[in-house]
This record gives sequence, C-alpha cells and structure tokens, in this order.
Amino acid sequence: MKDPVFSYEFFPPRTPLGERRFWRTIGRLEAQEAAFFSITYGALGTAQPQSVTAVENAARECDTPIAAHLTFEGSTKEEINAVARSYRDAGVDRIVALRGDAREDAAQARTRGDCYKDVPDFINGLLEIHPFDISVACYPDVHPKAKSVDADLQALKEKIDAGANRAISQFFFDVDEYERFRDRAAVIGIHVPIVAGVLPIRDIDSVVSFSAKCGAKVPDSLIKAFSKGAQDHDTMAKLSQDQLDSFIDQLIERDCRHFHIYTLNQMVNIKRCRPRQLLDVSVSRGLSA
Ligand SMILES: Cc1cc2nc3c(=O)[nH]c(=O)nc-3n(C[C@H](O)[C@H](O)[C@H](O)COP(=O)(O)OP(=O)(O)OC[C@H]3O[C@@H](n4cnc5c(N)ncnc54)[C@H](O)[C@@H]3O)c2cc1C
Repeated sequence: MKDPVFSYEFFPPRTPLGERRFWRTIGRLEAQEAAFFSITYGALGTAQPQSVTAVENAARECDTPIAAHLTFEGSTKEEINAVARSYRDAGVDRIVALRGDAREDAAQARTRGDCYKDVPDFINGLLEIHPFDISVACYPDVHPKAKSVDADLQALKEKIDAGANRAISQFFFDVDEYERFRDRAAVIGIHVPIVAGVLPIRDIDSVVSFSAKCGAKVPDSLIKAFSKGAQDHDTMAKLSQDQLDSFIDQLIERDCRHFHIYTLNQMVNIKRCRPRQLLDVSVSRGLSA
C-alpha cells in the first residue's frame, strides 16, 4: 500500500513576528517529506501582494515545491494572468485555482476589463499560460453557497474536467462524510485524488467560528472534549495531538493517501510523516504527488 503523502498550507505573514514564525515553521517542515507547501492568496485578511512576495521568497528558499493559491474574483483576466506569469517565471509550477470569496471589488473589476466567469474558465486561462499542475477546492460538508449537494459535486466535476489534477478538501472532522463524498464523486466520474484537508485543533473557539463561515461541521463531541477551562495547557496539547494522529489513521484506513494540513503557520507534528531523504530531493520535487 502506498505511503501517505502530506502537503502543508501557509498564509503570508503580515508582521515581523509573523514573518519569523512563518520561516521557522517552514524550516522545520522542510526536514519532513512533503509533496508541496501551499501559500494562500488574499485569505485571512492578508493583501494579495503579500501572497506574491511570500510565494516568490518561498520558491527561492525552499527545496519543497511551492503551490501558489490564486483567486480570480476581484481581478480582471489580465491582472490575474500577470500574477500567474510571474509565478511561472519564478519557477512555481503548481497553482491552487480558486474563485475566492465574494469581494466588494468584483463588480469594479468587471468595469476595468474582461474577467474569468468561473473556476473552469480560470483553469483554461492558466493552462494557456503554462502547463501548471492544478489543484482545486472541494467541500465534503458542502459549500455554503452551493445550490444543492449535487450542484456542488457537479461544480467540482467541471473543475476536474477543465484539467485539475486533484481536489483539496475544505477541512472536515467526520471521516464517514469524507468517504461518502469521495464515493459520490467517483459515481459521477471524478477519479482524481480527493486530498483530505486537515485542520489541527488548537483553539476550539476559533475552529467553531471559522467553520460557521466556511460551512464545515464541528461535531458536538469535539467541542465538548476541547472546551476550555477543564484542562491545562499540556493536557490540551496532548488531546490535540491524539485527535490529529487518530483522525489521520482513520482516514488512512479508508484509503486516503494525501493529506493537506492547514498549519495556520504553526508547527505541526505528523506521526506518519517521514524525515526527508536528502538523496530523494529530486524525486520529491517532481510533480507526481
Ligand atoms: C483548499 C482551499 C484553499 C483555499 N484557498 C483560498 C485562498 O488562498 N484565498 C481565498 O480567498 N480563498 C481560499 N479558499 C476559499 C475559497 O475561495 C472559497 O471557498 C470560495 O467561496 C469558493 O471557491 P472555489 O474555488 O471552491 O469556487 P467554486 O468551485 O466556484 O465554488 C464552490 C461551490 O460553491 C458555490 N459557490 C461559491 N461561490 C459562489 C457564488 N458566488 N455564486 C454561486 N455559487 C457559488 C459553487 O457553485 C460551488 O458549488 C480556499 C478553500 C479551500 C477549500
């Protein structure tokens, strides 16, 4: 059976302290085998130019391949294509192609020029620029704006048919839900890997509040187990690590082989992750994962 593969998501740092944490975590995770590090675009209140700087710096400094997130909402085709071309020129071969959340400047962008209409259209545009390896987003708990469960899955199929190599899921906590989602996807002809998005639980209140915005379901049992006050810091850290290890183990039992860890720029210890074999660096830099 194939060993599990891990990728790690970061957001661009905004402060000098954040910058130190970003590079410290990247440095420590560089010692692990990783399929890629991905860097978000304009998410969590960061400005898009900060993403461009972080991607270009990471591409220069890291041995692990970098996947740059790109969102088309709020930009004209020409504006976002220019960013994609600058990534290609910086040697970034992987893009996570996204709509992005509804932005106030979306209508304004349409007055400046032609805009991509949806993610498949965006993927077509990206592939005209360069044969990027493309990941897209998917939602085991269903995207809050989707018209229905089936419409959400159909939207994913259209993104895969446009040329995406894998779908990275929004974080979720119910392995049965993930399995059902993957089975439903296979039934409608989606055969690329459905990468499991994993959010380590550090602060349950922020997990609950973030989940409410993105439509992820947090089981009551998790909220109860992680609720503050009952445990000291060390007990909580152990609970968090045990939950992460057990969640990944359960997914491996269901044949999941690629995990995308939402690090929030903090160090994560993955029991199943192997130290990097330096002799294999050229292999891990390939686009096979
Ligand atoms: C792995 C991952 C990485 C992400 N990275 C970033 C990032 O770097 N920056 C960032 O800003 N956001 C990021 N997001 C959030 C993402 O941009 C939002 O979830 C966005 O609302 C949908 O993007 P999408 O690419 O899935 O779009 P789509 O595939 O178009 O949408 C997914 C589903 O939601 C429905 N939907 C979404 N928006 C609308 C709408 N306006 N009108 C009608 N239907 C809609 C679609 O019909 C479809 O069913 C990420 C999400 C994931 C899962």
